[in-house]
Amino acid sequence: MRPEILNPLFAETLVLKGVGPAIAKPLDRLGLARVIDVAFHLPTGYVDRLPRTELMSSDVGRIITITLTARDYRTSAGRGPTRVQATDMHGNYVSLVFFGGSSGWAKKLLPIGEAKRISGRLDEYGQELQIVHPDIVEPDEELREREPIYPLSEGLTSRRLAALTAQAVARAPDLPEWIEPGLKAKREWPGWHESLERIHADPSDAKARERLAYDEVFANQLAMTLVRADTRKRRGRALHGDGRLRDLLKLPYTLTGAQSRTVGEIEGDLAQTAPMLRLLQGDVGSGKTLVAAMAMLIAVEAGAQAAMLAPTEILARQHYETLRKTLAGLPIEIGVLTGRDKGRVREAILMALASGEIDILIGTHAIFQDAVGYKDLALVVVDEQHRFGVAQRMTLQAKGVAPPHLLAMTATPIPRTLTLAQYGEMDVSRLDEMPPGRQPIETRVISEDRLDDVVNALGRHLADGGQAYWVCPLVEESEKSDLAAAEMRAETLRARFGDKVALVHGRMKPAEKDAVMAEFSAARTSVLVATTVIEVGVDVPNATLIVIEHADRFGLAQLHQLRGRVGRGTGRSICLLMRGSSLSETSRARLALMRETNDGFRIAEEDLRLRGAGELLGTKQSGEMAFRLATPDMMADLLQCAHDDARLLIDRDGGLEGPRGQAARTALYLFDRDAGVALLRSG
Ligand code: ADP
Ligand code: MG
Repeated sequence: MRPEILNPLFAETLVLKGVGPAIAKPLDRLGLARVIDVAFHLPTGYVDRLPRTELMSSDVGRIITITLTARDYRTSAGRGPTRVQATDMHGNYVSLVFFGGSSGWAKKLLPIGEAKRISGRLDEYGQELQIVHPDIVEPDEELREREPIYPLSEGLTSRRLAALTAQAVARAPDLPEWIEPGLKAKREWPGWHESLERIHADPSDAKARERLAYDEVFANQLAMTLVRADTRKRRGRALHGDGRLRDLLKLPYTLTGAQSRTVGEIEGDLAQTAPMLRLLQGDVGSGKTLVAAMAMLIAVEAGAQAAMLAPTEILARQHYETLRKTLAGLPIEIGVLTGRDKGRVREAILMALASGEIDILIGTHAIFQDAVGYKDLALVVVDEQHRFGVAQRMTLQAKGVAPPHLLAMTATPIPRTLTLAQYGEMDVSRLDEMPPGRQPIETRVISEDRLDDVVNALGRHLADGGQAYWVCPLVEESEKSDLAAAEMRAETLRARFGDKVALVHGRMKPAEKDAVMAEFSAARTSVLVATTVIEVGVDVPNATLIVIEHADRFGLAQLHQLRGRVGRGTGRSICLLMRGSSLSETSRARLALMRETNDGFRIAEEDLRLRGAGELLGTKQSGEMAFRLATPDMMADLLQCAHDDARLLIDRDGGLEGPRGQAARTALYLFDRDAGVALLRSG
């Protein structure tokens, strides 16, 4: 149950004075449904209205507030602006300009001979000073010198929002403090309520802003710590592999140092009764599959079963084939199960799973449906973790006799500092070393005006027996228009290269997709035009060219993953990034970075730096992770601290039951991270 003290904050915005259905709509568009949302709608900047008694040309470009007296009106013919000639108390002239046939209105606001307080931006127009569309300050109106600027939507002004946020803050109760006192003192953070007041009064108040961001990051870390505590307190099953299966492996190469180290870490985790919660981060091609295979072999050596979950049908089948090859000759049974398997086939697999005949099962989500029962599932490997939320991770835990060990793998490069935000409950291993002999991918950035040159280059590549991917632009994030763009491109390429050109997209049925992929894999087609469905994992070593249209519309992490589709064989690979003709400075820098490095972790770090403070990690780009107060650069500073503090609270300060714990519970609700609380109660 939500603590009662929070009730006023969780009321609808309609309880605020001046909010009716008409204003509720634009508020809604900003995602402001409850009073707390309004209070958390923080200003992004401010304007200073400089108080002045005299007009000075040195103030040109600034917003000033000054007392002026209207002297004369100059209305131009037709639709021209109305100019009100006015003087300050020293007799200096300025013209106040009103566009849009508002002459009657201007005269009414500014009667000749009457002194008025005026505020607006002072400009120079020829030799004259002017203020366009000035604000006329009512005598009793208090004009703030520092006026906050809020993110707006149509129908709302910053001043209006300032009035609403002030009301919301006034309704906010004082909340008990959840921040550890030493930390709060060291950082010189104000209390929660004071921070809200201060940030809305002065958007440049760094301490107040930081404190609120910390609260959010802390709630996030606390929720994850609760998940971790909940998992770890269950007794799992210690798996001691005796090495008998791993000894039989005949690999054409030796493990990289990073692979050996990681397998060692996993082996250590598996030997504990507390279930493993480990994230394996490794760039595309760093050899995560082999690490997963070793982990699963340990489970089987210990007499248990292991399952590996892939995000797509194609990937599940590919992993299955890869593992069958890698583990060929070992006395174990490997199965595959996806949504495509129906009827008898499915029944047979289910039987073999229940009897323990299958040691390792690869598949999509289908492998965790209720009907699927394992004899003794002790290890779950999740490939491409970013597709799975905390919630799914939790349901996996329910499958084993004892809660299974969990190994999650991701190739999505995330800056080190942000890893905690997404995977705070896990221990992290990094494959930071590539297998030897990899050819670096050469990346070039080309303007889209040069489409013909690119198509010619593709022609030469195909003539040499190569295969290629052609990734179509993301059009406004809608699947439908993605598809249209991909279909059109496939058409134009077919006109030149005939039926060597195949098309794969997200709206195809899994079986259709697989068929297209299989054809491409077997080199029966040579160009695969695709929407981003090829993003993850697909492996065709002979495809050594990838063209990505509108590369500037993709996130760098995604571009990096797409690029990782090539460079899988021993031949030289090329990635052509096509860009729009007008690019922002940042877009340019981002594409240049892609050209410069193949190191996914470096790309992630630099991308964070390039995007800088302005951009929040929204739900869209990062799955479940939604932050509204903490920007990535703030998180970089606050995460470790919040992480440590959350663990301290749970492990040593009495969890949620102690006095600080009760306060922390409020923080979880405040940031909608209360799933963590529910979990703890049920456990
Ligand atoms: P990813 O981390 O992207 O999943 P994979 O597991 O698919 O990478 O491995 C990429 C390729 O590298 C595969 O062809 C695999 O056989 C090969 N590979 C993995 N480990 C090594 C190694 N230690 N030495 C040489 N090649 C390796
Ligand atoms: Mg992989």
